Amino acid sequence: MDFAWSDQQRELLDAVGRFASQQLNYNVIENDRDGVFNHDAWKKCGSFGIQGLPVPTEYGGLGMDPLTTVAALERLGYACKDNGLLFSINAHLWTAVTPLVYNGSEAQKKKYLPGLCNGTLIGGNAMSEPNSGSDAFSLTTTAIKKGSKYILNGSKIFVTNGPVADLLVVFATTDKTRGPDGIAAFLVEKDSPGMNVARKLEKMGVRTSPMAEVFFENCEVPEENLLGKEGGGAWPPPSGRCKDCWRPASVMRTSANKAASRSANTS
Ligand SMILES: Cc1cc2nc3c(=O)[nH]c(=O)nc-3n(C[C@H](O)[C@H](O)[C@H](O)COP(=O)(O)OP(=O)(O)OC[C@H]3O[C@@H](n4cnc5c(N)ncnc54)[C@H](O)[C@@H]3O)c2cc1C
Repeated sequence: MDFAWSDQQRELLDAVGRFASQQLNYNVIENDRDGVFNHDAWKKCGSFGIQGLPVPTEYGGLGMDPLTTVAALERLGYACKDNGLLFSINAHLWTAVTPLVYNGSEAQKKKYLPGLCNGTLIGGNAMSEPNSGSDAFSLTTTAIKKGSKYILNGSKIFVTNGPVADLLVVFATTDKTRGPDGIAAFLVEKDSPGMNVARKLEKMGVRTSPMAEVFFENCEVPEENLLGKEGGGAWPPPSGRCKDCWRPASVMRTSANKAASRSANTS
């Protein structure tokens, strides 16, 4: 079995590396110090196709398989010095875009995916709550059906991309008595009545990736924005761990190379 990259994969990885080193590495220190998200770099990534790497071409993506996607992201992480931008791309890709690809209706995919792929829209995911972290299924945000809408009430915390997001995948329970099976996901657009992206949270690292607390007070979400089905339970955010693996891997590769070249220069 041949495990080598194909010529096509190699070309993509080289192109990603060139793109990142030539176009993304400016104002990184200043932005990190001031906690500024680089909108311009985000748009450049969208134009290149980064945010749509694993998305089928009919929705505006590049249609790459999972291995090629992760390899391309690893190369991006190796060449791009803005760790916060990488973190935000990950959150967008694995906790908003991919759930939409796998669980979205045709109408939802057509409506949101092209913008999420080309850098026009920013996505995020709101599951954690002040009293619900690792034990995510204990979340208490409610979604009660009223006519053709769901009414959301509750609060979310640590929402990556929250301050800049156009679309959040929000988890809420439609029936507390059903535990995890009562949890459903909703596509909530920014500026939805009753949604308040309240406080930008300060961080010690990856500071260019903004994070917020989000409140829902009788927030109206149209029923067509239910992602997946009610009573389908809290499907695992697909490939969630993927988001946590390639970025440290690429940072480790950069560090190892720097250490090797330093040691070669001093010996
Ligand atoms: C940089 C960053 C970005 C994030 N982005 C998002 C986001 O976009 N959307 C979102 O919804 N959330 C996000 N989160 C929140 C993240 O998902 C939670 O921090 C995580 O689920 C852990 O929850 P917690 O912080 O409440 O810790 P806790 O659940 O309180 O856990 C604290 C510690 O206790 C341990 N622990 C917990 N339960 C047990 C147990 N039963 N037995 C033994 N040990 C246990 C844990 O392993 C951990 O070490 C983000 C967090 C960070 C740090």
